[in-house]
Amino acid sequence: MSIIQLEPIAALATAPGIGAIAVLRVSGEGAITLTNRIFRGKDLTVQASHTAHFGTIRQPDGSIIDEVLATVFRGPRSFTKEDVVEISCHGSEFIIQQILRRLTQEGVRLARPGEFTQRAFLNGQFDLVQAEAVADLIASDSDASHRAALTQLRGGFSKQLKELRQQLIDFVALVELELDFGEEDVEFAQRDRLRQLMLDIRRVLHPLIESFSVGNAIKNGVPTVIVGKPNAGKSTLLNALLNEEKAIVSDIPGTTRDIIEDELFINGIRFRLIDTAGLRQATDQIEAIGIERTQQKMRDAALIIYLFDAQFIFPHDLQTAISEMKDSGKPYLLVGNKLDTLTTGRRQELEDVAIEPIVWISAARHAGIDTLKEALSLRVRTDAAVQTGSAVVTNARHYEHLTGTDDALAHATKGLDAGVTPDWLAMDLRIALQHLGELTGEITTDDLLDSIFSKFCIGK
Ligand code: GDP
Repeated sequence: MSIIQLEPIAALATAPGIGAIAVLRVSGEGAITLTNRIFRGKDLTVQASHTAHFGTIRQPDGSIIDEVLATVFRGPRSFTKEDVVEISCHGSEFIIQQILRRLTQEGVRLARPGEFTQRAFLNGQFDLVQAEAVADLIASDSDASHRAALTQLRGGFSKQLKELRQQLIDFVALVELELDFGEEDVEFAQRDRLRQLMLDIRRVLHPLIESFSVGNAIKNGVPTVIVGKPNAGKSTLLNALLNEEKAIVSDIPGTTRDIIEDELFINGIRFRLIDTAGLRQATDQIEAIGIERTQQKMRDAALIIYLFDAQFIFPHDLQTAISEMKDSGKPYLLVGNKLDTLTTGRRQELEDVAIEPIVWISAARHAGIDTLKEALSLRVRTDAAVQTGSAVVTNARHYEHLTGTDDALAHATKGLDAGVTPDWLAMDLRIALQHLGELTGEITTDDLLDSIFSKFCIGK
């Protein structure tokens, strides 16, 4: 792939605001020559790539703006694959603005958001999935989201898909060749091999498609709901988890009427906790709204904590609750509260009834809270994809194209079974190719690129 050097652009690459140092990045055709015009020190135009040089940046009248370190990167050995100079200056807003002004006076344009990454993409530094991972990496605020972004940046799933797409392209060419022969009954594309290839591709797609729910949760937090009867201790548990008095605790059943959302980080995973009004049958207007919302929140939740008062729960009610949790199809944890009031016999009795593990806590006494936290993070981590650090899809655009490809291939496979004519087959395969190509960025439109890269911050 040939490298294109576009007009020179510049932007602050570090976070705006006051800091010990700030880094400005200049990239594009003539980046080194133009920076050299405002730099006093060594002649940057003759310096080797990847070398740093001390000097000053001057106003046109010769007065010093700042002492800086200029690092030279010669294309294609740079982030954008263009010529790049990184200017490390003192982190003052005034100095940064003055240097940018000097650069623009020399004909450098201020960069748009994401423009550096866009150029890197256009010069083949990485594919679109990886480019988007750069944005996610910058935005990552938990250990797990950081890991997911990093895996994608390193090539993630797109490399494998690119190879399979190439094989599919070869098949489409053969199928389309059959079309040229019209009425003659020829088959250039071996149907068995095509069937196998489509199967192979779908095998790669499925875990990625399935990883989206967990991937999305990692990026945005795992929506977790605490449900249980009034007075089970839900508010007390929420407080214990969040370690502060966020919810209203009272002895009157059903007083936690408002839903309180809060976040909790456990082992690098973000949980969005949702407190609810309880699962009790509605007895009044306010409570009815609360219960409706509880059921809605259970639908929205990715993880359910079922909390019960171990002192007073009837074994039969515990069994009913367990089957309700199972019906919901969501991962859940059974949590027995008020351990401090229990006899060992009672605990054993409930365990026998439940026939599955119960996490025992005393919310009021903050006992067992760490065990519960561990159990929560384990529920999320048991997803193999997260555990092994393999690719996890966190991006809705990727998800859309992955499912689009899968649907088209499923349709093509069905067609193959039914013995459809080559033109029908080619149509489905074309749709699959279009999705795969848009996913990795081999097929792009300017609108798509603009919308993706505009989500970046300036300087990236
Ligand atoms: P909610 O209706 O489910 O939100 O329940 P609350 O959190 O308001 O608690 C109901 C009552 O149970 C309050 O009086 C709490 O003090 C009490 N409670 C909560 N956790 C415990 C516990 O671990 N042990 C004991 N003995 N009481 C608790």
